[in-house]
Amino acid sequence: MTNPDTSFVNDTERWQRALEAAGLGVWDWNLKTNVCIYSESWCRMLGYRRSDFSETDDLFLLLIHPDDRERAIESGDRHLAGKTDGIETELRLQHKAGHWVWVLDRGAVIERDEDGNPVRVIGVQTDITQQKQVERDTSLVNERFRLALTAAEIGIWHFDVARGRSFWDAKTCEIFGLDTISREIDGDTWHTFLHPEDRHEAETKHFQALREKSEVKVRYRIIRPDCQIRYLETLAKSVPNQGGAGYLVGTIRDVTSEVEAERALQTEKERYEITLGAINDAVVSTSVEGVINFANASAAKMFSQSVEELIGTNIYSILRDGEKIRSIQTDQMKDFNEGVILELDGALYRCRRSPILSTTGECFGQVYTSHDITSDYNRRQQLAYAANHDALSGLYNRVAFDNALEHAISKAAVEHLAIFYLDLDHFKALNDFAGHAAGDEALKAIAERITALLPEGAFFARLGGDEFAILLPDYDRTSAENFATEAIAAVRDVSLSCAVNGPRLGCSIGIFVIDDPSIGASDALARADDACYAAKSAGRNRYAFFTESRSTRTSGLSAAREVADLTEALDDNRLILFGQEIRSLQRPNEQCGRLEILARLKDRDGRIVGPGAFIPAAERFGMAAMLDRWIIRRALAEHGHRLRSVNLKVGFNLSAQTLCDPTLWPFIKEVAEENLTPLSQIAFEITETAAVSCFETAELFVRSARRHGCTVSLDDFGSGLSSFDYLRRFPVSCIKIDGAFVEKIVDSRVDRAIIASIVELAKNLGFDVVAEKIESEKVVARLQQLGVAYGQGFHLHKPEPLDDIIARRSVENGRMAAGIAAVGS
Ligand code: C2E
Ligand code: CA
Ligand code: CA
Repeated sequence: MTNPDTSFVNDTERWQRALEAAGLGVWDWNLKTNVCIYSESWCRMLGYRRSDFSETDDLFLLLIHPDDRERAIESGDRHLAGKTDGIETELRLQHKAGHWVWVLDRGAVIERDEDGNPVRVIGVQTDITQQKQVERDTSLVNERFRLALTAAEIGIWHFDVARGRSFWDAKTCEIFGLDTISREIDGDTWHTFLHPEDRHEAETKHFQALREKSEVKVRYRIIRPDCQIRYLETLAKSVPNQGGAGYLVGTIRDVTSEVEAERALQTEKERYEITLGAINDAVVSTSVEGVINFANASAAKMFSQSVEELIGTNIYSILRDGEKIRSIQTDQMKDFNEGVILELDGALYRCRRSPILSTTGECFGQVYTSHDITSDYNRRQQLAYAANHDALSGLYNRVAFDNALEHAISKAAVEHLAIFYLDLDHFKALNDFAGHAAGDEALKAIAERITALLPEGAFFARLGGDEFAILLPDYDRTSAENFATEAIAAVRDVSLSCAVNGPRLGCSIGIFVIDDPSIGASDALARADDACYAAKSAGRNRYAFFTESRSTRTSGLSAAREVADLTEALDDNRLILFGQEIRSLQRPNEQCGRLEILARLKDRDGRIVGPGAFIPAAERFGMAAMLDRWIIRRALAEHGHRLRSVNLKVGFNLSAQTLCDPTLWPFIKEVAEENLTPLSQIAFEITETAAVSCFETAELFVRSARRHGCTVSLDDFGSGLSSFDYLRRFPVSCIKIDGAFVEKIVDSRVDRAIIASIVELAKNLGFDVVAEKIESEKVVARLQQLGVAYGQGFHLHKPEPLDDIIARRSVENGRMAAGIAAVGS
């Protein structure tokens, strides 16, 4: 391009100034010469002066941004080709300082040749850098805004008040269930969507936004064309426009799922509250710090505060209030997660605490649940009490005693643990004679009396029936003896409020002081029991210590073993019948044809053992009747047929069990008949203790026996409860004065007086009297003075095998018969 004519620009300085003031650069392109002239203002727009360039430089192409070059040239070519009315393009030119200047390039052909071909084009370039920047900023803002709306699923709308038209964007349309194309709609359309129940409020709020020019938020329901009900939330604001009535501009959001979730949450919360309010367990939830933020009705009841009072209170301040709350098990705060028992105003609660954890394990607080266990606890206490106590006496029972004994033995120092086995004497008699109510009263009174004697640490139990046991720690032989003496006295002092004349209860006590810590509990108790039997055998109303020797002598540790031995003895024929003669005190050196049969047992070593060693055990294990019958059958089988010929009357001792058997008399009759024994050759000895066990049966037996000529003696007379009383009721034919009165007769005036009165009584009633246990000639003489007709004792005749006695008597009788025959011949 060459420069054809520069005068056009140069001569108009005024133009020059005007263009510069307007910030416009002018170019003038001659197509014939292909020279383009740029104005000074153009050069300055880009930081240059005209003189910076050579005349020939095509400045436009020199400074244009490579990206814009093509487009700019094309725009020029299109215009020159007649396709456009002018050149209009935006392009960048490089400033002298290096940065790019956006310009709007506009131009047009201003001269053509005769053929209409363009020959001159003039154009103006305007600096639009700033405008471009604003455009870019705006589009950035718009993009952000669009993104935000999309992300929040928010629709945009506005209402042109003057025109009564609304503009909804695509999202708003979608929310209303329309095609997702933004559109202008009639202002009334919105109203047709409103749910009838929400219409009023929605309209009012929108109107309010318009009228008060305030920002208004409103939630309402719409019914969409597909009949779906949706919840929407609108934020609306009035925006004025110049001169016009303004716009109502707003956002809109579908909040249906939010509302539903909220509602579901609310429903759930209500349900929880109703449920928690209805249950009996107290529920309290707290913050991490322990501040109560929820409490149900049961919790309010438990703490005697209203729910409102509880909320905001710190749970620890309540739980630590020792005045009100007491922890039953452990320290109330420890092990709380497993649950503790708290006592509150007399009620008991099992409380548990569990943390409220988020899904990530973060703790938000605690929930305390408390269950009222008062009645449960009480019931358990009662059951536990009943399981360990005897209902009648209130003492511990057998189970509790066994446990206590085991526990005491398992403790290290048992050396001085004393076990007392206490068995009441004649208790069954009392029960049968005075009734069970009286028996129960007596048991209670005894329990009370003995309890009063107990030192601290003692364990007292009723094992059953009339048997008791006591454990005394730290007792040696002497202190045990003292205690037993006191206990016996206490039992004797119990007054019986029954019809029996001045009766007194007694008891036998067995004592075992543990000397070997390795002993088992049951063995230890068996030893005390064993000692108790020893006390009983020794005459009741006394105590005895367990001794190894005693039990080895009776070839067994306990009564059970003795009984086992006894059964074996019967099988092995080791039970032997002894006899002791009863003599007339008129002629004490002669037989008088009466004897008492006494049982003996030959032990495995061949030693003879007295009945004291096995009869109590037989009685205890219900074997006494069997034993007595065995003796009667054996005696009659062997000697019954000759009793008449040898003129001998044999007496059998009957135990309570034997006497109480209603088939006893038929048995006697049968055995006597079988063995051709006249009933008049048979005698029976019964004790009053045996008789009272079954008063009526005993009486019937005595009457039958008497009717058939048997002698019936009341044995051990004077030792029992109320002997004289029995004489009236039993038609006995003989009384045997207890040896205890006889043995001291020489020295004791009292005993002599007693015997004298017995003799007197017997004379009046027509009984025979036999004195037992005569051990000396002096006694014989005294008894003779007192008028006692018969006697028995070692001094007169020592017990010896029945066989021997009968054999001797047969011989004597034979001799006597021979003598009579000789005299007669
Ligand atoms: P019991 O019926 O009072 O018998 C008299 C006891 O006194 C006998 O003791 C006898 O040996 C003993 N005795 C006799 N005279 C004297 C004496 O002068 N001095 C002393 N110290 N004792 C004397 P035993 O044989 O040991 O019998 C004891 C008890 O066993 C008897 O007392 C009787 O109740 C019972 N018994 C004996 N045999 C039988 C029996 O076959 N059946 C039943 N049920 N009991 C029997
Ligand atoms: Ca007897
Ligand atoms: Ca006797």
